[in-house]
Amino acid sequence: MKSFLFHEHTREQLNQKAAEGYMVVVALAATEQHGPHLPVYTDSLIGQFVATEAVEQAAKTVPILLCPLISIGCSDHHKQFGGTLSFSSSTYMQMLRDIGESLVSCGFRRIVFLNGHGGNEPIMHQTANDLAVKHPVWTASASYWSISREQLHRVNADEVGMVPGHAGGFETSVIMALREDLVATDLIVAEHSERAWINSGPPGTFIGRHLELTGSGGYTDAPHMATKERGERYLEAINHSVTAWLINVYDSMDSGERSMNRDK
Ligand SMILES: [Zn+2]
Repeated sequence: MKSFLFHEHTREQLNQKAAEGYMVVVALAATEQHGPHLPVYTDSLIGQFVATEAVEQAAKTVPILLCPLISIGCSDHHKQFGGTLSFSSSTYMQMLRDIGESLVSCGFRRIVFLNGHGGNEPIMHQTANDLAVKHPVWTASASYWSISREQLHRVNADEVGMVPGHAGGFETSVIMALREDLVATDLIVAEHSERAWINSGPPGTFIGRHLELTGSGGYTDAPHMATKERGERYLEAINHSVTAWLINVYDSMDSGERSMNRDK
């Protein structure tokens, strides 16, 4: 049985893999408005592609499994535009916790959340923390753009706009590379009123501004510089970084566990 997909195994096979110390990856995404020109499944298309490619590559080196994508996220800040399916933050946290608890019940001790939507990020980190506090398990969590920041910088991903931004040049390029047929190119604009997005408060301060968490008009920057070739370059950089990150996380958990066992 060679599959790296959790859901292609039987319960006995999964029980065996849990006992062998396999690391399980849960990929998180969203179904939410992405401006007038991108499909609402944008974050999920990217999240599914990145998680599948990276886990498949990492599986050649470390024991690892990928769970089914969680394609609805915490997107309440996008609901005003329509086209958005969202869990509230408290429901999302409970849902993630329940998935983590399920994996713990299955016997898995190494759990990773790999994220592809900004609104999920703080809740994901909190849940990863809570699981490791409550159970004798190792958890890790990160968003793909944080993992690949350096590599994306090296391929000049910011040449098209904010990285990742929201439905701007970066995400438009990536969707052109993944599903060109889903991009409404006739609705792509060359100008965008770039209001200070999110906030520019004192360092370390979160400032929430009503209706200003999505970028002006529901997207962060004009997507007119987007091309399929750029998107392919960005995806290659992301896949490379996330694969290396997964192997690194596994090695950290494995050597951490071995040194704890030694100390007992
Ligand atoms: Zn997005």
